[in-house]
Amino acid sequence: MPLPPLYGHEGIRNRLAGAIASGRLPQGLLFEGPQGVGKQRLALWLGQALLCERNDGGAKREGCGDCRPCRLVLTLSHPDLHWFVPVELERRAADADKQVELAEEALGEVLAARRERPLYERPSGMASHGIASVRLLLRKLALTPVMGPRKVFVIGDAERLVPQTGAEAAANALLKALEEPPPDTVLVLTTAEPDALLATIRSRVVRVRVARLADSVVTAFAQRELGLADEPSLSQRVTAAEGCIGRLLAEGGVGGTGGAERGEGAERFLHAVQDGPVARLGFALSLQPFQARGGFTAMLDELLVRLRSEARAGKDSGKVVSAIARVVDARELAQGNVNPQLVAAVLGEDLGSPR
Ligand SMILES: [Zn+2]
Repeated sequence: MPLPPLYGHEGIRNRLAGAIASGRLPQGLLFEGPQGVGKQRLALWLGQALLCERNDGGAKREGCGDCRPCRLVLTLSHPDLHWFVPVELERRAADADKQVELAEEALGEVLAARRERPLYERPSGMASHGIASVRLLLRKLALTPVMGPRKVFVIGDAERLVPQTGAEAAANALLKALEEPPPDTVLVLTTAEPDALLATIRSRVVRVRVARLADSVVTAFAQRELGLADEPSLSQRVTAAEGCIGRLLAEGGVGGTGGAERGEGAERFLHAVQDGPVARLGFALSLQPFQARGGFTAMLDELLVRLRSEARAGKDSGKVVSAIARVVDARELAQGNVNPQLVAAVLGEDLGSPR
């Protein structure tokens, strides 16, 4: 199945298209904005605009959608469009080369799944851009483009590029590539957590804010791409998505379990808060220390969605508002270098104590 069309983001599209037409597009970009707002889809759109063979910089200045390169981009099969997403490696290889092969395999599997079902949910909290992925990226950066004059790299959830001891050479090579990419190359990183990104990476790319979409755009996507025109809860789901199309998918309506899992985590947490100090501590200790930070912040996001909808429903609003503030604080801590177990324990106490 081809990718669904990109909805909204006209302002950024115009700016990017203008930059391509005038030859001023930075080679290293960071798209930052809320989870599910469409940053990677926008990056793929940019890739298409750059690889299209009919984009002459004229009136339209974006991928035509018809030429061979465009069609290959839309089916995620273009040899010069390299999409890196966080992966979870189930096995560990003895040597670095073998490990790179495993990363390539894992990445290939994710992309094959996306070709089948281009609407996807957030990768699991354990998935990352490990050092093997970075080495693979460096190898691909060194290749000459196969089809046209340039190649494009999209690196989703870039805050999951993790530094690893003993792999400093690869990390430095990546920084150098970001600072001075090969002349035929554009790199687009995306993140919902720019502050969690390595500062050395952040300082080497041009940051572009991707804003939430209007509800009317989210509604149009739900109706046309998800076939939800007759869904009675459509307007509720659009409101809950808060301008992020990806959240329509995570709310559990279109298959997949990611949203349900996060919902369950938030639910368990709220129960633990009510059940008292022992239950709260038990919940905190059941969390993974450090590695699963992505999953933990996703759980907090889910908690925020619930609290906000409680606030909208007018439930004991003073209490709910202060709870929201505490969760927002906790989310900031969780994005820094603080152990999720500790954050959950403190947040649990905060929410559980009488206000
Ligand atoms: Zn084209």
